[in-house]
Amino acid sequence: MPIAEKMVKVVEAASMIRKMFEEGIRMREKYGADNVFDFSLGNPDVPPPAVVKDTLNDLINDKTFSHGYMPNPGFPNVRQAVADYLNKETGVGLTPDLVVMSVGAAGALNDTLKALVNPGEEILTPAPYFVGYNQYAFIAGAVLKTVSSTPDFHLDLNAIEEAITPKTRVMLINSPNNPTGAVYTREELTGLGEILEQKSREFGKRIYLISDEPYRKIVYDVDVPWVFDIYDHTIVLTSYSKELSLAGERIGYLAVHPRAEDAGLIAGAAGVANTMMVVNAPALFQQVVGRLQGVTVDIGIYRKRRDMFCQGLSKAGYEFDIPQGAFYLFPKSPIQDDLEFVNLLKQENILAVPGTGFGGPGHFRLSYAVPEAAIQGSFEGFKRAMEKAKK
Ligand code: PLP
Repeated sequence: MPIAEKMVKVVEAASMIRKMFEEGIRMREKYGADNVFDFSLGNPDVPPPAVVKDTLNDLINDKTFSHGYMPNPGFPNVRQAVADYLNKETGVGLTPDLVVMSVGAAGALNDTLKALVNPGEEILTPAPYFVGYNQYAFIAGAVLKTVSSTPDFHLDLNAIEEAITPKTRVMLINSPNNPTGAVYTREELTGLGEILEQKSREFGKRIYLISDEPYRKIVYDVDVPWVFDIYDHTIVLTSYSKELSLAGERIGYLAVHPRAEDAGLIAGAAGVANTMMVVNAPALFQQVVGRLQGVTVDIGIYRKRRDMFCQGLSKAGYEFDIPQGAFYLFPKSPIQDDLEFVNLLKQENILAVPGTGFGGPGHFRLSYAVPEAAIQGSFEGFKRAMEKAKK
């Protein structure tokens, strides 16, 4: 066996995603980029706000800027800026020692799960869910357990209550959600907090809530409630990948609620996990985002695309919930087998991701982090695929 046995399945899953990516490149070469409608990737194409480049230029031209190591959890001034921002938003009284700068939201998830979860313990997450969670659970040696959502992709509190076991260590939520675009309400989050408190008492073991929020700023006419206000034993984590379109720069953070049980220990352990895996988050971009708290890409661009996509798809006969956040649509597949339907779409040069991959069979995911022309140009193909599916 040339590679570790435990890696075989993980590599297989990763190569499926890579195959799709390569298929997109192959199709663009064959048919021309304008004739391929690739909605498969959540890679933001909206440019970062101009102030990002200005800040970068200032830092590069600052002769005193240090490219060396800093304290492993991040530059103190940057962690202070993040704590100040979160305190302004939530009034929760965060101190910088409870903030760890990370390599994107993925890094923050890895750090937090490493800090909290013993091998064999369960991470509970509502399905459909972001596929990366399988990998982060694998790295933590934990079991990712999914629980169904309501038909409109909100929290099914009864199902969650039933799914929590003495092995549950973490409830992991993501709102605004990838792949569904749902934004959880204050009422459902309050209900969730009550269940976590009650189950923690019942099992004599603290269950922590991890709120994965990289799409917090990409919302349309709704507010994303702060879980910090609702349940004390919470770790909020995020990145600047989507809100500043900096996905390739790999910068984010995690923040532990000051009143969480063992808050200091958790932040400390997450910092050590971060050090073990990546040493520290990128220095230059820590300082960029430290100076740009509260700055966001132009959400109007995503809103326009969302509205255009929803209109065109519903004209073509597709059914879906209008996303309240993020930049994904998660329509119902017109036939039960979403993999087969995604193949029908491919015959129209449309690339989508089957819902099965997200634990949401019978659906497919479309990312609208693509130019308007791609959305507009795809509608005829969507119509034809629907007609074929109905035959
Ligand atoms: N969590 C969710 C829900 C995501 O959609 C993504 C990326 O698409 C991540 C985490 C990872 O984000 P990052 O690229 O900042 O590590």
